[in-house]
Amino acid sequence: MERRALVKNLFVLGMTASLPLKTLFARQHSAPLNVKRPFHRFQLGELELTTITDGHLVIAPVQPAFAPNAAAAEVEGLLKASFRSTKEIDLSMNILAIRKGKQVILVDSGAGYSFGSGCGWLPQSLSDAGISPEEVTDIILSHAHTDHSGGLIKKDGSLVFPNAQIYLSAVEHRFWMSDHPDFSKAKFDNKDQLNHIIAETKKIFTTVKDRLKLFDHPTELFGCIRLELAAGHTPGHTLVHVFSGSEEIVHIADLMHSDVLLFPHPEWGFYGDTDFTAAAATRKKVLQVLAEKKAKVFAYHLPWPGIGHVRKQDKGFEWIPETYSFPA
Ligand SMILES: [Zn+2]
Repeated sequence: MERRALVKNLFVLGMTASLPLKTLFARQHSAPLNVKRPFHRFQLGELELTTITDGHLVIAPVQPAFAPNAAAAEVEGLLKASFRSTKEIDLSMNILAIRKGKQVILVDSGAGYSFGSGCGWLPQSLSDAGISPEEVTDIILSHAHTDHSGGLIKKDGSLVFPNAQIYLSAVEHRFWMSDHPDFSKAKFDNKDQLNHIIAETKKIFTTVKDRLKLFDHPTELFGCIRLELAAGHTPGHTLVHVFSGSEEIVHIADLMHSDVLLFPHPEWGFYGDTDFTAAAATRKKVLQVLAEKKAKVFAYHLPWPGIGHVRKQDKGFEWIPETYSFPA
């Protein structure tokens, strides 16, 4: 498979072990053996929240995965102005764990075994943060893409989190389990790879079907979580509001894949969006609300630990990451 085709696999973030990914992932950092991975723990009202890393995914080249219709000079200019690589975008994989009494709730499950050694670190990272897979009671999936759901099952088909219930949007489930999920509004159009991704997603959700609890938007869970539809990236793409008392953090999942490009230009878009135009409109609308509310935000793919605020800037927005005086 030529490099361009390999790179295209990344765009929908749903490739699997049967694709020749080793060359693509060769330059990624593997999970170091016997090295404890840091986590970031903080309090939200009565809740203990922890950011845990599942690793990372490199997307290269930047265009056309990002900003397929924008001028190359403008895209490069923005990256250079932020002292970033113009060759690639390195996506974090931030998992949010919420402890409420004896309940441990995860938002998303990471990529699992099929994306190479650069990610799929969640079980080890969780244990480094003092959480065992058996302790996890609930997993809320922001959407079905396998970089978020692949970590539910092991290679042999057994469950990674044996005691967890799994929550997924009913709309999302219906889309992926239908005979012909509609990708006609996506920029990504490799039919073979799409069919492969659909088959892998179906496999995951068939394997976990006894644990699945499908929800409609909007809904509340456990007295600390509110689920809101933000369709576009996928039909059931969900924002996960976590709250306690007067405090709230909004997990925006895959609304944003780049802090440098998509805040100033939400309309530039991302190839992995199932409906490219709807995703851009949703991105803009949600960023506007987050900026107005001065909301604390958590993002799956933004730089570690994925926590910050959105500020209005010129015609677009900017990402203000939270800073910390020491690692903890
Ligand atoms: Zn993703």
